[in-house]
Amino acid sequence: MEPALGTVAIRPDPRCSCETDLCGNRDASVADPPQRSSGLGVSEPPQLAGLPGTERTRRFRPKLRWELIGCGLHGHELIGTDAAEVRLEDHLLVRETAGLRWYRCLRCDSWLPLALPKSPSNRFPPGRDEIELPLRGRSLRNRYVLRLIALDRVIHFIVLAALGIGIILFAIHQKDLRGDYLRFLNSLQSSVGFVPSHNGFFREITRLIYDSPTKLYLYGSAFSAYAAINGVEAVGLWREKRWAEYLTFIEVTLLLPLEIYELAVTVTYLKIGALVLNVAVMAYLLWAHRLFGFRGGSAVDRVEHERDTGWGALERATPVPSQLPTVPLRSSVQ
Ligand SMILES: [Zn+2]
Repeated sequence: MEPALGTVAIRPDPRCSCETDLCGNRDASVADPPQRSSGLGVSEPPQLAGLPGTERTRRFRPKLRWELIGCGLHGHELIGTDAAEVRLEDHLLVRETAGLRWYRCLRCDSWLPLALPKSPSNRFPPGRDEIELPLRGRSLRNRYVLRLIALDRVIHFIVLAALGIGIILFAIHQKDLRGDYLRFLNSLQSSVGFVPSHNGFFREITRLIYDSPTKLYLYGSAFSAYAAINGVEAVGLWREKRWAEYLTFIEVTLLLPLEIYELAVTVTYLKIGALVLNVAVMAYLLWAHRLFGFRGGSAVDRVEHERDTGWGALERATPVPSQLPTVPLRSSVQ
C-alpha cells in the first residue's frame, strides 16, 4: 500500500524486531497519523526517541535531564559557529540548508538554526581531534551528584574547622575566660538569686571551663584534622578523582557506628537526617561508581563512560541520511 501524501514511511531497520509505534519495522504507513511529529509533517526517526527532554514524563516519577541542566547552566555546546563553510563530513555537528545553518548541541543533541556567520574566522568547523566532547548521560549525572556530595563535604569542612579552631582558641584563653565566666555567674546569682547549674548549657560550659588544656587541644586538633579530611574529599570529589570516592566512602563508613550510637542515645531530626544522607552517599558511591570492584568495578565504569560520551554516542543519536524518514513522491489520493 502506497503512503498518502503528507504521511511518512519510515525505513525499517532489518536488525530490529520490535513493534513499537516509533519503530520503522512496524507498518507506520498510511492509515496511522504520524507519531511524534516534528512540526513539518515528518515523524522523528526511531533513534531520536530517547533524546533528552523528548521522553514523556511519568506523573509520579519525574526524570532529571542532566544534559538539559548542563545546557541550562552553561549554554549549548555548538561547534563551527565561526566557520565559513560546512563540509559533508561535518554532518554530525553542523548542517546547512536554505541559508540557515543548523548546529547540533554536543551535550543535549538539540539542533539549533542560526544565521550564517558574517565574519567567519575559520574556513571549516574543527575536526574531531580538536573537539573536546562534553559529558553526557550517566557520566554527566555522576559529575553532578559527585559535586553535590562535594558541597556536603564543604559544609562539613566549614563546621568542623570552626569547631576545631574555636576549641583551640578557647584552650589558649581558657584562664581569662574562666575568670570572665565566674564573674558572669556571680552577677547572675546576685541579680536572679540562683544559677541553674543543673541546666545542660551551663553544665557543659562549666565542664569546658575546667577541662584540662591538653584535652582541649586534643579535641581541637581532632576536629581540625577531620575538617581537613573533609576538605580534601571535597576537592577530590569536585574534580571527580577516584581516590576521593574511596576516601569518602571509607570515612563515612567508619563513622556510621558512631552515628548509630548517637542516635540510640538521643533521637533528633538532625541526627536522623545526617544518618540517612551518609547511608545514601555510601550506597550511591558503591553502586553508581562501582567501588571495590562492585558491579564490574572501574573497568565497566570506563566502558560506560566511553559509550555515553564518545563520538559513538553522538553517531547513535544522529539522524543520518539513510535513516531519515522519506517523503513519498506520489499521493494515493488523486
Ligand atoms: Zn544543549
